[in-house]
Amino acid sequence: MIWLPALLGAVASAPVGTSIDADTAGYWQQEVHYQIVARLDEPTGVLSGRVLIRYTNRSPDTLADFYVHLYLNAFRPGSRWADRDSLEGLRRFNDLADPDYAYERIRRSSIDGVTVRPEFPYAPDSTIARFPLPTPLAPGESLEVVIEWDARPSTLPRRQGRQGRRFDFAQWYPRVVVYDRLGWQAHPLYPAGEFYGEFAAYDVTLDLPEDQVIGATGVPIEGDPGWTRRAADPGVAVDHQRGWYGDHAFRGGGCRVMALAAGRKCVRFYAEDVHHFAMSLNPDYVYEEGRFNDVVVRVLYLPQDRERWGGGTVVARTVEALRWLDELFGPFPWPQLTNVHRIEGGGTEFPMMVMNGGPSLGLILHEVGHNYLMGILANNEWREGFLDEGFSSFQTAWYFEERFPDFDGYGGPERFVLYQDLDDWSEPVSQVSEDYRDFGTYSTMVYTKGQLFFHQLRYIVGDEVMRAILREYYARWKLKHVTEAALLDVAQSVSGLDLRTFFGQWLHGTPLYDYAIGKVTRRQMADGSWETSVEVRRLADGMIPVEIGTAREDDRTVYARASGRPERDVVRFRTAERPGRLMLDPRLRTHDWNYLNNRERRFLSFLDEAWRLDTYVHEPTRRDRVVSSAAPTVWYNDAGGLTIGARVRSNYLGRFDQHEAWISRGITGDDPITESDGGWVDGRLRIRNPHWLRVPRSAQSLDLWMLEGRTGAALSWEWERRRSFTDPNTRRDRVALQWMVTRNMAFLDPAQWENGGTGEIAHTTRWDRATARAQWRFMATYGGGIAYAARDVGQRLERRYDVEPFGRATGSAAVRWFAAGGSWVLGARMFAGGYLGENVPLAQRAIPVDGADAYERFDNPLIRSRGAPFVRADVFYHAPGNGNLRGYAPGLGGRWLASLNVEVERVLRHATRGPLRDVSVVVFGDGALADSLAVPSTGDGAVTPLIDAGAGVRLALRIGDLDVPLRVEFPILVSRPAYAHNRRGGTDVIEFRWLMSLERSF
Ligand SMILES: [Zn+2]
Repeated sequence: MIWLPALLGAVASAPVGTSIDADTAGYWQQEVHYQIVARLDEPTGVLSGRVLIRYTNRSPDTLADFYVHLYLNAFRPGSRWADRDSLEGLRRFNDLADPDYAYERIRRSSIDGVTVRPEFPYAPDSTIARFPLPTPLAPGESLEVVIEWDARPSTLPRRQGRQGRRFDFAQWYPRVVVYDRLGWQAHPLYPAGEFYGEFAAYDVTLDLPEDQVIGATGVPIEGDPGWTRRAADPGVAVDHQRGWYGDHAFRGGGCRVMALAAGRKCVRFYAEDVHHFAMSLNPDYVYEEGRFNDVVVRVLYLPQDRERWGGGTVVARTVEALRWLDELFGPFPWPQLTNVHRIEGGGTEFPMMVMNGGPSLGLILHEVGHNYLMGILANNEWREGFLDEGFSSFQTAWYFEERFPDFDGYGGPERFVLYQDLDDWSEPVSQVSEDYRDFGTYSTMVYTKGQLFFHQLRYIVGDEVMRAILREYYARWKLKHVTEAALLDVAQSVSGLDLRTFFGQWLHGTPLYDYAIGKVTRRQMADGSWETSVEVRRLADGMIPVEIGTAREDDRTVYARASGRPERDVVRFRTAERPGRLMLDPRLRTHDWNYLNNRERRFLSFLDEAWRLDTYVHEPTRRDRVVSSAAPTVWYNDAGGLTIGARVRSNYLGRFDQHEAWISRGITGDDPITESDGGWVDGRLRIRNPHWLRVPRSAQSLDLWMLEGRTGAALSWEWERRRSFTDPNTRRDRVALQWMVTRNMAFLDPAQWENGGTGEIAHTTRWDRATARAQWRFMATYGGGIAYAARDVGQRLERRYDVEPFGRATGSAAVRWFAAGGSWVLGARMFAGGYLGENVPLAQRAIPVDGADAYERFDNPLIRSRGAPFVRADVFYHAPGNGNLRGYAPGLGGRWLASLNVEVERVLRHATRGPLRDVSVVVFGDGALADSLAVPSTGDGAVTPLIDAGAGVRLALRIGDLDVPLRVEFPILVSRPAYAHNRRGGTDVIEFRWLMSLERSF
């Protein structure tokens, strides 16, 4: 086979690997020096400091004011961060009281010796402070700002925090706001979106308790950080790197001029070319050290971490991350990297430092990756978060792909993002962080879809060119502020490709991708070779190069690549041998949402589906094919006898083409009417969510059936409303049109079915609400239509009618409260329903006392027909619903009903793995006021009160992918025992009765 790299030909000739002259011409960044002296008072958690900031204006603009971040003020009530949390239903910093919340307060401030007062332009948020300059600062001029301040981290950790003698000082000092080509980036801190800082030199002198152990940005040039005393290996000679910066910029100050109280020590750190200074303190830290080339790796962990962090484990992983990043980008420019076990879980990156909640290699790669992507290649994190989060997630996935050939770092995120794209939840990857709908959307777009952006770039340019792009990007932009434009420029100049459309669409839009293969012709040439032409059709807005290769899964040959831009394109390629069946994007790299139109057509298209034997409890899905599962079915009922059949169900992506076809036939039934139907095979067909009808956040279905004495059809459309894909509070609406008529009464329980039919339309609304302590569900259905009797074989109707209109409505509200950490559950449900019509309702449309109505039971073959496995004289199955008086018999129903169900459940066991999940015991009581048509009144009124009560045992089982609740309950008390479901024990009010169910009670 010949590999014809249509576009890659151009790539190969591009001057990769050599540095292409800088597009950094005209780039500037401000010059900043911090000289900080600070003292930590542990009992109050307050650090008090004085900073001298020397600021030189390297911009071409004259500045009239000066800004600093006071980030710690985000973690207190009234901040923009806290208010955004509250908007999203999360109670965090708005609920903290003194002394738990964080703060950062300026005590005194001056500029060039003139006292100035800070202004807070986003008040009441105070994460940004502005100082008007006494005199404007012209280009090239410098000024000196002195600020004295107090800082306290919050006890609720979030990227910073304090806990006893542990302090994660991630933010703690007045940090100069970046002034760049877009002006002052004075941006308050929100939960979504992080930091942006000026590259600077930091000279930090700290007055600390003598036994504190500290890890920080930079190197300790004076004093003892406590590493030798807390070294895991007491014999190790700690490399403090005191001489790394030689004769550093600030000669004055430092520990020599500090007056220390007893029990205190002075430690002075120094760093250059970093845009932030972080530190973490804990007297219990254990210290380990390693090295990658000239870079010293320091790990500080807790004594109880020894097994997971110690023995060189985290040192080795941190070194491995540095090795990988050195290979990918270039040498680490700083002297050291410190990895500490912080208070909070997760991880956060700082220059020369990562604060991690765990020791995993994936987390270390991601956060150390940020030392390059954010630390050295310093993007504006709240404006273009994908340049650090998406990028670092991508390099982490690439690492695992390189190391473990079977690792797929692309497929999982790609499918997850596709679902958000298909449901219109996606927002552009490059967007100001607080403009995202909510935190969940922000992190999905910036991390996951941002990661995919880099995977797509790698797919477009190829691995080798991608590596060249990363190295050139680093060579050109290290220790500078980077933007999308910088990356685009490097990627285009290294690859020789025009990547503007790709960048524009992936980063600033949310298009879908869909390519379809059109006409294919193969022609043998005079020399015996083959020329093939392939029509490539673009059906969606997204444009990305498309590979054309073989459709065979065991052959990865790619013949050519289409640009993917025109709506219709014809690509020609030559091969030595005749190419087999073709497929667009056979490696599944274009984010094409619909692979069902990518294969060259053939006559028996169902052969493209992945066929399997259905296990019933697991339904796999595939990205590139419909999965069809077939299985035999067998059940029983009185009229049909042993009923055998088959079911086929299919799906694409687990959400489209979820069709089902059933056929079945009773083979041992001896009912005369069944025989007179002569050779009937029952069938049911369901078309659900056809992919060609794709409508975001909605589901459609069409059902047709002729099954066990009933014939019908249903058409439904359901749609979902919620604020975001992570929002547990959901409203679903469904409109359904349904027709159902009885055809053969031999199958039917006469208590639940009369010979007749209905045609109706109904609207159902369901609200689900979840809070930390409770789950609520509200449901309401209303509708109506016509009911009619099939007169010719009518047997039971007292008042015959041909056709009459009716209306029907039901509503319920249910809640489950969780107490004592979920070990007690209190459940309550209220229900009311009514039927409106001139005559009494057909039995199947009455409002049932006990549970599901006849139409709801029809879906389940185990309770569908008379004599079915759960519809037998000795089996008492409860199908929940409607009045839900579980002690009463199915088929009791009237024109109206109002009921109340109450349960108290004690959870004895709760597991999240294994086949047996939960075990609980329950006591319950159900009560109703019913139409005397359902159960005759004991007096002569039209209202019949009904009560049942009892206790039971519940198991929550997990079988394959199915959650199976098993209930065995004992409705010992039934107030009208003659109407109880289970009357085998006798007919007193109090009797031993049991029931079982494979569904939750409500
Ligand atoms: Zn990250």
